Amino acid sequence: MDLFEYQARDVFAAHGVPVLDGAVAETPEEARAAAERLGAGVDGGRVVVKAQVKTGGRGKAGGVKLADSPQDAEDKARQILGMDIKGHTVHRVMLAPAAAIEEEYYFSVLLDRANRTYLAMASVEGGMEIEEVAATKPEALARVAVDALEGIDDAKAAAIVEQASFPAEVRDQIAAAIVKLWGVFTAEDATLVEVNPLVKTADGRIVALDGKVTLDENADFRHKDHEALVDKSAADPLEQRAKEKGLNYVKLDGEVGIIGNGAGLVMSTLDVVAYAGEDFGGVKPANFLDIGGGASAEVMANGLEIILSDPAVRSVFVNVFGGITACDAVANGIVSALALLESRGETVDKPLVVRLDGNNAAEGRRILDEAAHPLVTLVDTMDDAARRAAELAGAAGKGA
Ligand code: GDP
Ligand code: MN
Repeated sequence: MDLFEYQARDVFAAHGVPVLDGAVAETPEEARAAAERLGAGVDGGRVVVKAQVKTGGRGKAGGVKLADSPQDAEDKARQILGMDIKGHTVHRVMLAPAAAIEEEYYFSVLLDRANRTYLAMASVEGGMEIEEVAATKPEALARVAVDALEGIDDAKAAAIVEQASFPAEVRDQIAAAIVKLWGVFTAEDATLVEVNPLVKTADGRIVALDGKVTLDENADFRHKDHEALVDKSAADPLEQRAKEKGLNYVKLDGEVGIIGNGAGLVMSTLDVVAYAGEDFGGVKPANFLDIGGGASAEVMANGLEIILSDPAVRSVFVNVFGGITACDAVANGIVSALALLESRGETVDKPLVVRLDGNNAAEGRRILDEAAHPLVTLVDTMDDAARRAAELAGAAGKGA
């Protein structure tokens, strides 16, 4: 999960990273009041008004503006709120006292999957052109591998600062900030912590002016407080419901609902459905849903309920390879799931194509044959089943 800048600022502050005061506003009037609190217009005090969207390049898009009075902050907020930045609509702005920037630096630490380690990056040429710097002057961006067990202590931070050639007078402050940022990274189970710019102010202080943090959702269970950081307004309602039911579901934009057991099988199911769909008007998978090992009737019912309530879905492909959970248990799961849904008053009116293979497949098929549910079609192979599901979705599309 990516955090908004104002959330990253709060997390930084909680871990002792130097940041400026901040306030969030959702209307121009709130921005005015916040600017007043932050001292805009008093003794030449200025504030910065910043779009809160989960994408970079806000500055270049006109989403970061300075204001020299509460009225000016209100006007700037009015310009920024509602702005579209790379497909993200601005619903909130953050206000902060404007920093007198002397230098803009860059620092990040992230999970380096390719090298199975963590990677710290630092540069004295931070700011809005950092991508350009990284591409054209790679030597200006120090890259230092960070061992997961050793982490970044004072000595490691000093080595990073040395390698990035930070000026002598800010080295100690930057090294101290880097140690704190590593603290954020580990304590919050982040996969990315980025500060750009990390600035040196006119009075010689080091401050994290813009932060980007990605949290590892797999660690949510040990961070009850992260729940409050979720942007509920942006969540897909089906994904939200699936999450509440503990399902591994991702909404996609096609028409064939997919249920499978095992992430690998489900991903290859998406591929074969997309491929087969080309022959039937370009129908595509409507979702990813991995019901995992224990395909109980309840899990199957919850999964089917989510998929069937997606108005875009025209057919459903249940693709199960029986392993530890045998196919007869899955078949019973499907039969009871349909009964359960009907008893809950859900309308089950979309065709289901089921392919069962692996452990106890013959018995599983027998159970489904015997149940003879009018909406269920059994198909032997994955490719044929994908074709059939795509065909049904294509036909339903034409009928509609
Ligand atoms: P981004 O473009 O989305 O990365 O947004 P940033 O928060 O990094 O802001 C972009 C640029 O705006 C920074 O690189 C600074 O040059 C400038 N900026 C941001 N905050 C301030 C501030 O408080 N004072 C001044 N003078 N400039 C700022
Ligand atoms: Mn930035």
